[in-house]
Amino acid sequence: MIEKYQTIINRGKSRFNDTKKFIRLLKKVKSSELDALCGKFHTLFAGEINCLDCANCCRGTGPLLKNRDISRLSKSMKMKTGQFVENYLVTDEEGDMIFKELPCPFIDKKNYCIVYEDRPAACRDYPHTDRRNMRKYLKPTLENYRICPIVYLVIEELKKTFR
Ligand code: SF4
Ligand code: SF4
Repeated sequence: MIEKYQTIINRGKSRFNDTKKFIRLLKKVKSSELDALCGKFHTLFAGEINCLDCANCCRGTGPLLKNRDISRLSKSMKMKTGQFVENYLVTDEEGDMIFKELPCPFIDKKNYCIVYEDRPAACRDYPHTDRRNMRKYLKPTLENYRICPIVYLVIEELKKTFR
């Protein structure tokens, strides 16, 4: 990871507790207003950041895999679903399927996803800052604040608007 992104991630970790308080404030913002602002800031910062220079989501956290993700990935790997699950997945404490290990087994040395076309839906949608009804997604967004530079920048921009 390049230094610039590591610095942002470190800031996200050190400002986490303060941001936790700010995130509570966002629950009071009108849903449509919050969605519009998040979408706008997401487009801005996602356009500026090169994920291939970061890959912290693939290396530091993993997606939840739904049945359709597992089925698509198994086909892509030319494996039976059961074999794919046995090789790569485990059930977490909440009953969701996740990768056994991090970094993700499908990231290569240059930070390319080797199953990109068939990657899980959660990977496609990450970092989820341009979704509808962001108010319902504030808890995971707070977690992603210390993982993903895009999320960090979106939240810091929201602070300028609402603080
Ligand atoms: S989505 Fe966020 S964490 Fe993942 S590679 Fe891009 S900037 Fe990094
Ligand atoms: S499947 Fe691809 S996009 Fe998803 S975590 Fe693994 S390397 Fe990253």
